[in-house]
Amino acid sequence: MSAALPFLPFSKPTIDEATIAAVGEVLRSGWITSGPKVQAFEAKLSEYFGGRPVRTFNSGTCTMEIALRIAGIGPGDEVITTSISWVATANVIIEVGATPVFADIDPVTRNIDLDKLEAAITPRTKAIIPVYLSGLPVDMDRLYAIANKHKLRVVEDAAQAFGSEWKGKRIGAFGDFVSFSFQANKNITTGEGGCLVLNNEDEARLAEKYRLQGVTRSGVDGIDVDVLGGKYNMSDIMAAIGLGQFANIDAITAHRRALARHYFSCFGPDFEAQSGAQLPLQAFDTSNYHLFQIVLPDQGPDTRANFMRKMAEYNIGTGYHYAPIHLFTMYRARGFKEGMFPVSEKVGRLTVTLPMFYAMTTADVERAVAAVKAILIK
Ligand SMILES: *Cc1c(COP(=O)(O)O)cnc(C)c1O
Repeated sequence: MSAALPFLPFSKPTIDEATIAAVGEVLRSGWITSGPKVQAFEAKLSEYFGGRPVRTFNSGTCTMEIALRIAGIGPGDEVITTSISWVATANVIIEVGATPVFADIDPVTRNIDLDKLEAAITPRTKAIIPVYLSGLPVDMDRLYAIANKHKLRVVEDAAQAFGSEWKGKRIGAFGDFVSFSFQANKNITTGEGGCLVLNNEDEARLAEKYRLQGVTRSGVDGIDVDVLGGKYNMSDIMAAIGLGQFANIDAITAHRRALARHYFSCFGPDFEAQSGAQLPLQAFDTSNYHLFQIVLPDQGPDTRANFMRKMAEYNIGTGYHYAPIHLFTMYRARGFKEGMFPVSEKVGRLTVTLPMFYAMTTADVERAVAAVKAILIK
């Protein structure tokens, strides 16, 4: 037992002193809401995503809702997504008045199965929301081939995929709408927040309106409201944190990939056969390894709770991402039930998230792997 070692959380933000100083400067400046820092952060993000327009918001969730509104999606429309995501992904579909449709996941990638996605398309389908769970993108060529063939809009839930790539291109630098989250646990954070990559300046202007009460500059008095917007703007305090985080993004991604490599080498080639657990995919040139998730061997309904409790005895934190959305009460009330998406239900019941964050060391990885092996290998 190693209870004497300090608690190892599954995730923890790293905020450097320069960032803390930059936040102090904003606080003393007399301008703390959306202003020059937000503009500077958006300019950096746009450059990072190959010059595409980018707007920032106060959450990742609202970026997806706003993308659906810009695409004109509403009542009568169906939007296809996965049940293994944070519930935000499906909630935004309901929020705009459309109907969520789930497609089961691929057991290897744990992302939406693109064959099942295509099979779920009906004449009412207007958009798809793929989720890049743990930072692993789907087959992006295939995704956009399906979208183009069926004339569907895509809202990429890339909340976990900041810094991930596909065939040497950054996620966000191509495609349709791409949504990122800067929530506290994400690879870069603004405390809470998010950004949306858009296709053109018309969409960006519309995003600005939805972001702030529908307000637009026009007419002699310079203000009008012509759509219903909300209150979703990012503050300069948040943007100062984001700028400080963004300065380290390449180091963050490289370190997470190095930690993931170390996880795989510590688990070794025999771990899956010996334990019955399933490791994530090795995808060092695509995934940013936002999360390192294993699927536990099935030992009954308390499998995950027991495992998490035993990890806690080693003073190691774990999490789970995610419980299947379609089995939540509000979704059951819409007609979803057990048995509809068996792979999602199995992974949702048995997945567990091991520690992975920028300040983590290779010694921390070794400690986590030793605990997992002690628990799972008899
Ligand atoms: C974090 C996250 C979101 C929501 O982002 P918020 O910034 O918390 O609104 C949505 N989808 C996924 C997959 C996420 O990980």
